[in-house]
Amino acid sequence: MRKDNCIFCKIANGEIPSRTLYEDEEFRVILDLGPATKGHALILPKDHYADLFELPEEKAGEVMCLAKRMVMKMKEKLGCEGFNLVQNNGDLAGQTVFHFHMHLIPRYRADGQTIGWKPQEVSEEELEEVKNQIVD
Ligand code: AMP
Ligand code: ZN
Repeated sequence: MRKDNCIFCKIANGEIPSRTLYEDEEFRVILDLGPATKGHALILPKDHYADLFELPEEKAGEVMCLAKRMVMKMKEKLGCEGFNLVQNNGDLAGQTVFHFHMHLIPRYRADGQTIGWKPQEVSEEELEEVKNQIVD
């Protein structure tokens, strides 16, 4: 199902042209227009899901299988040495386009990018508390 006025719905379904690396019935993989590194790509489902919270489990599995295939091919063709898979959910988490997408970011030596977080100090008690909060 598509959503009106969603740019990634339009791109995924070919209404807006994109540099497509791969396409099948369910997905389109395109080059990101504001790449972190050479070859930065996005996996877009053709159906509209705002984020991982809405994405059905089965589709989530397919996204990961497709990511694996794309990463293997892009590593061979681009000669990158590493890859970051990034997937933002919610504006608080940095999501700017609210149609599920997974970033495939090739990494090269000295590419000048840092993708990460600032590790926080945590006590044994805090770790135990959060574990208990999550586990039933
Ligand atoms: P996010 O911040 O995770 O929502 O990522 C959105 C990404 O979409 C950014 O990396 C943008 O550069 C990229 N982007 C936005 N519009 C387009 C577009 N029309 N074609 C390709 N990539 C886009
Ligand atoms: Zn959409």
